Amino acid sequence: MTDFLQQARPGVRHLAPYQPGKPVEELQRELGLSKVVKLASNENPLGPSPKALAAVQAALSASPAELGRYPDGNGFVLKDAISRKFGWSHDRITLGNGSNDVLELIARAFLGEGDDAIYARHAFAVYPLAVQAVNARGIEVAAKNYGHDLPAMAAAVTPATKVIFLANPNNPTGTWFEAAEFEAFMAAVPAQVVVVLDEAYGEFVSDAQALDGFAVLDRYPNLIVSRTLAKAYGLASLRVGYAVAGADITNILNRVRQPFNVNSLALVAAAAAIGDDDFVARSRALNDAGRQQWLDGLRALGLDAIPSRGNFLCVDMGQPALPLFQALLREGVIVRPVANYGLPNHLRISIGLAEENAFALAALARVLAAAPTAAAGATA
Ligand SMILES: *Cc1c(COP(=O)(O)O)cnc(C)c1O
Repeated sequence: MTDFLQQARPGVRHLAPYQPGKPVEELQRELGLSKVVKLASNENPLGPSPKALAAVQAALSASPAELGRYPDGNGFVLKDAISRKFGWSHDRITLGNGSNDVLELIARAFLGEGDDAIYARHAFAVYPLAVQAVNARGIEVAAKNYGHDLPAMAAAVTPATKVIFLANPNNPTGTWFEAAEFEAFMAAVPAQVVVVLDEAYGEFVSDAQALDGFAVLDRYPNLIVSRTLAKAYGLASLRVGYAVAGADITNILNRVRQPFNVNSLALVAAAAAIGDDDFVARSRALNDAGRQQWLDGLRALGLDAIPSRGNFLCVDMGQPALPLFQALLREGVIVRPVANYGLPNHLRISIGLAEENAFALAALARVLAAAPTAAAGATA
């Protein structure tokens, strides 16, 4: 009998699937907890943009029967909203079922057997997954202070390199690079190599001098900037993201895109959210305050985090983090262990509402006070 597992492509056979954060309901069911705080998936603690929510509700009540029809495969309303907000013409926009989808489209369009893709150590887990799934070779470049070492990444380019993935800020570390470093990098990278600048957390960056992919995009025909509605706009569940690039790259990406990859409610919600500057500003301010609350609270516990521009902190626990993660679960706090990112002593903690941060910090203090017990319990 044929062993069907052996029939799968080698990259897929050896692929370790992405580990999502634990859902709140699952933890409540398992441990019978009444209160659970989830700070595990970098979601917006304010929930969706109210404009997005109103637009979805209006669309559903005006024409519920539309759910029985396929969505607009061109995503006109969303492209139009992006166009009005940022000025890009429709032929430069690729819509995705989350920006995760866009990253996979890039891998499918540009990478295969015999090709190389470059990403940084501790970079977003989807890059190696997308590369491995198409049987290309991933080159992981050593980190510098947990962040991208851009000169080393440029130096790692081989004749087989087709794509380089950069995350700014990066998940799970929160690290970033500046505009001048990026420009030096682009000058060093051969013009035929596609560079993906993943700005999933760009809206949380409050420094006006920070690199803005959209501000430099027109200088680099080989650059793709990807953004998402999942983080600052609070639409993680609807799955919608997009890439902006030159019209020729966009045309290539759209050839491998499934025709209806973004559903109609996601299109409506995203089109409304993109223009909701107030909500993004509110989310950013809440995040700035929450980050400071965490940094102060962590310092009081003798802990340190990697400097972060995202809506999360990567905290060095000074000991194996998995038992602490498990002890926090028993306290009703879900955070994210990042051993799979080569960071076994760190926990990634998303920044929540002030009250959620306080709840989690108090739980963390209890867990650390009982750390030897927690560690023993976790190995059982
Ligand atoms: C969350 C995240 C994304 C994409 O998320 P989607 O929900 O698929 O839009 C992309 N890049 C990074 C670095 C992320 O953390």
